[in-house]
Amino acid sequence: MRRPLVAGNWKMNGSRSANQALMHDVAAQVAALDSVDVAVCPPFVYLEQVSSLVGSAIALGAQDLSDQDEGAHTGEVSGAMLKDLGCQYVIVGHSERRTLYGEDDAFTARKFAAARRHGLKPILCVGELLEEREQDITEKVVARQLDAVLDLEGVEAFRDAVVAYEPVWAIGTGRTATPDQAQAVHAFIREQLAGHDASVAAGVQILYGGSVKADNAVELFNQADIDGGLIGGASLKAADFLAICRAAGQAG
Ligand code: PEP
Repeated sequence: MRRPLVAGNWKMNGSRSANQALMHDVAAQVAALDSVDVAVCPPFVYLEQVSSLVGSAIALGAQDLSDQDEGAHTGEVSGAMLKDLGCQYVIVGHSERRTLYGEDDAFTARKFAAARRHGLKPILCVGELLEEREQDITEKVVARQLDAVLDLEGVEAFRDAVVAYEPVWAIGTGRTATPDQAQAVHAFIREQLAGHDASVAAGVQILYGGSVKADNAVELFNQADIDGGLIGGASLKAADFLAICRAAGQAG
């Protein structure tokens, strides 16, 4: 049985006071949920503050990291620094990094490797653009994104990693993949990994991301290969995020 994970990606949102209020509402109630793992990924500058607010039931994650370990890389943040601040997870290859900042598959794979070098669990985001879905090449795109990491790090690396399927057309748009659409790609991802190692594939958590809300979470999380969610907008509202965490805990 895979344990569900719900990770909140705060993106470039938050302030010291807003973070305090959000975590005040979320932390105590997540502590009462015992069948779901929960993580929050605030902006770098708030990691230290949020680490003091998460309590023991919520893990800390970052939204990105450098592919480099240290040195003359102005503006970058290393995996070692994230580990030092108490991070357990780091998102790599989010579609906003890929599309807005030109981060390609090979660069994403190097970030995945950097995360693992520092004992962080990468949450590897994959997913197709709208035009790629319309051209019916979703599987080709997702396979290419996975292969870049498999080629560099090997399938064993996925024992300590999470995959997030995030169709780009569903992120922040209010447009969600149907449970069947999402399940089909999740099953494909698991099959691709199973082609390398069946036990790794059976164990890896594959999250769905893209406009998950309290009212669509249950149906998505009830799909056989969906093991929780990567949540953007709804992770900034305590009641919505908690409802999604509860849905993941009850799914199965
Ligand atoms: C995301 O940023 O990973 C995401 C899924 O965003 P949203 O939930 O807002 O679509």
